[in-house]
Amino acid sequence: MTSRPVARLQSWFHLRSLSPHPRRHVHSLLHAYPGLRLTSARRSAARNRAVGGVPNSLHLSGRAADLAGPSLQMLAALGAARSRGAVEAVHEGDHVHVAW
Ligand SMILES: [Zn+2]
Repeated sequence: MTSRPVARLQSWFHLRSLSPHPRRHVHSLLHAYPGLRLTSARRSAARNRAVGGVPNSLHLSGRAADLAGPSLQMLAALGAARSRGAVEAVHEGDHVHVAW
């Protein structure tokens, strides 16, 4: 279990890597659902391969984000992302993947 300060620093670090438009949406989700943390955002091609990402992943262009935390907050964030025009909003089990 990651301590809260470390989780917040990790979220901030990943948030900074996103493109401006998705960053605004993800920032809003993190604010609305404070139990969630951002576990992945923009990835290098090497990092994307290492974590098994699809070759055309929106993580490569800083448009996709992965959010993890309590189940109910993940579900709520997924619904919110869909209603806010996310181009991808997928429940991956241990996290939700959203992209704009
Ligand atoms: Zn993802």
